[in-house]
Amino acid sequence: MTILNHILGFPRIGIDRELKRAQENYWNNKISKKKLLKIGKKIRIKNLLTQKKMGLNYLSVGDFSWYDHVLNTTMMLGNIPKRFLNNVKKINIDTLFHVARGVSHNRESTFPSEMTKWFNTNYHYIVPEFNEYSTFNFSWNQLFLEIDEALLIKKKIKPIILGPMSYLWLGKTTSKNFDRLKLLPKILNIYKYILNYLHEKKIKWIQIDEPILSLNLSQLWKKKFIYSYNFLKGYSNKLLTTYFGNISHNLDIINSIPIEGLHIDLISGKYDLLTFNKNLSNQILLSLGIINGRNIWKSDLLKYFNLINNFKKFRKNIWIGTSCSLLHIPIDINKESQLNKKLKSCFSFAIQKCYELFLLSHALNTGNKSLIKKWILPLYYKNFLLNFNNKNKKNLFIKEKKYFRKNNYNIRFKKQKNKLNLPIFPITTIGSFPQTKELRKLRLNFKNNIIDKKKYESKIFSIIKKNIKEQEKLNIDVLVHGEPERNDMVEYFGENLNGFLFTNNGWVQSYGSRCVKPPIIVSDVSRIKPITLKWIKYAQSLTKKPVKGMLTGPVTIFLWSFSREDISDLTIVNQISLALKDEINDLEKNNINIIQIDEPALREGLPLNDDEKKEYLDWAVNSFKLSISEVKDTTQIHTHMCYCEFHDIIQSISELDVDVITIENSRSNDNLLMYFKNFNYNNSIGPGFYDIHSPNIPSKNTIFRLIKKSLKYISPEKLWINPDCGLKTRTWKEVKKSLYNLVYATQKLRLEQKN
Ligand code: GLN
Ligand code: ZN
Repeated sequence: MTILNHILGFPRIGIDRELKRAQENYWNNKISKKKLLKIGKKIRIKNLLTQKKMGLNYLSVGDFSWYDHVLNTTMMLGNIPKRFLNNVKKINIDTLFHVARGVSHNRESTFPSEMTKWFNTNYHYIVPEFNEYSTFNFSWNQLFLEIDEALLIKKKIKPIILGPMSYLWLGKTTSKNFDRLKLLPKILNIYKYILNYLHEKKIKWIQIDEPILSLNLSQLWKKKFIYSYNFLKGYSNKLLTTYFGNISHNLDIINSIPIEGLHIDLISGKYDLLTFNKNLSNQILLSLGIINGRNIWKSDLLKYFNLINNFKKFRKNIWIGTSCSLLHIPIDINKESQLNKKLKSCFSFAIQKCYELFLLSHALNTGNKSLIKKWILPLYYKNFLLNFNNKNKKNLFIKEKKYFRKNNYNIRFKKQKNKLNLPIFPITTIGSFPQTKELRKLRLNFKNNIIDKKKYESKIFSIIKKNIKEQEKLNIDVLVHGEPERNDMVEYFGENLNGFLFTNNGWVQSYGSRCVKPPIIVSDVSRIKPITLKWIKYAQSLTKKPVKGMLTGPVTIFLWSFSREDISDLTIVNQISLALKDEINDLEKNNINIIQIDEPALREGLPLNDDEKKEYLDWAVNSFKLSISEVKDTTQIHTHMCYCEFHDIIQSISELDVDVITIENSRSNDNLLMYFKNFNYNNSIGPGFYDIHSPNIPSKNTIFRLIKKSLKYISPEKLWINPDCGLKTRTWKEVKKSLYNLVYATQKLRLEQKN
């Protein structure tokens, strides 16, 4: 048997984020559609050539997307919500952007489709909408175009599609009591059409992603799963791909469907491979996902060599691959010219991971281990290179009681009320104010030593001053300094803590054209000196109104960084917590009475399999609480979470016991608030009355109505008024108008309450 290799997908943003620039230029009418299409094609060709050059046997096709791959599927199936179809003759790339952004190419605005996190990652997809009026037609042949392109480069290609069951599961029903499973037959017909096309194209293998197999599915969904794949029997070989967790609990499904291959994620799923293998029909090809698609460390190829070499006698046909798509990591470590060669040799980005697959399959097929031995050499001296000495580990024994604040919320509520003296329905924002071009340039100039620290800081101070003045003018109650000093909410803290390493070009797509550059936690984390204090203190000196201290929480810093694979998550996260605790302490000492600790990633870390959830939530909650356990009763702790579904974590949210939580309700149709109400959540809530992810300006009436509606779920004295996330991606013009409307609506309500 020859062991072949493949990846589950390559990053699509382009090595210099070409896609981002092209998208944004197109949206702003700076480039033509033709130019946009050309740039996309260039990225795809380059990705294919890279895979080929690195020695991959099958090239992946269909991993490209103009915005998001779930939206690709929506386009392909023609499942476009009716509100985007006015005056549309043919569904095309403009329709796609309209659905994602809510703004059409001729600037008509409609509310966009919801966006949410892709399983437990920081990638966001556009949520498909389903209701009794949903129609399906094959409407978008992008995949077919890409296949033709790819076939010119190599015969052995493997198209990727999102499977029908995961597609249906990932969407939401937009009408009450509608069962989306009713749509399955219509959807399956289109899949059949696609499969037939691929078969006629003589495609040997197709990759069908069904990541929902890591979840605990209901009996009904299991049944429908089996039905669907039996319906789709025949055509090209199907490699059913699963990732982000173990799927052993769904083996009954796998063994009841006619598939030719199965991919499992051996990185995030803890498998007993031999047992799993025994329980899997022996006819099936097994693809082993052993190269971590979600972290950037070099893989221990020798370990996997031994594993697979011992295993291969138990299965006829084996492939090796990445654990999941490489979408979640940067493209090329060799772009990091500021890192020395030795340091670089500890890491593998997407291109290097492809090469690792080549090295490993080569070794397995020839028995010659010399190349892999050479490759993994840096892993042995990694700690030395990274200056890691484990010295903080022993401080991390934390007693249970350290996690709790002195008094319960009812007591704190009263004390804070007296101390802060805020009006009813206090108005605040989430932290950042617009990050203008000039501001970005300023930070860049400072970073590149074009301006000195003194000049830089005086500019930042003047921006903070402007932010404070604008908020005062708008009549906001709890002010923020606006975060002008931050490039990114995690990067900024990483830069000011010990233990983090930064890349120059390590971009990863977060949603649409937005990318993040996660830091790398390489050694012990601790605080060097106060991080935010001087900015917050300055902001507070300018106003009589309270200014909120603004921190990123330990769980989010951890999850949005690449972390060590050889140290426990808990150890790292607690180190971050203790560092933040020092910062909180400093803020408190300097009369900052309100401190917000953002945890937008908290839910993201939740394992897919129910059995593993509790363990994660326990450590996540405790780490957060550790950082605030010693604050005074009068210090009001806020947290902010966006794109959260709360139904399965509400208990943990309540255990965080923050005084105020601001959430992202504006696109969720009050479902979120319902959970809080049903749970009898007792602390204060700011639901988010302005959807900052869309350029639309919410009207006074809309906001007023939304606030009123939220009073059905939250008692008036516990309701806060705020946008649903930070304002950094918006323009000042949009922000001023929207906040003006937000304040106006609130004041109207205050008056109404009085009378
Ligand atoms: N404080 C951050 C901001 O306002 C929060 C961002 C986030 O939730 N993602 O930008
Ligand atoms: Zn947010």
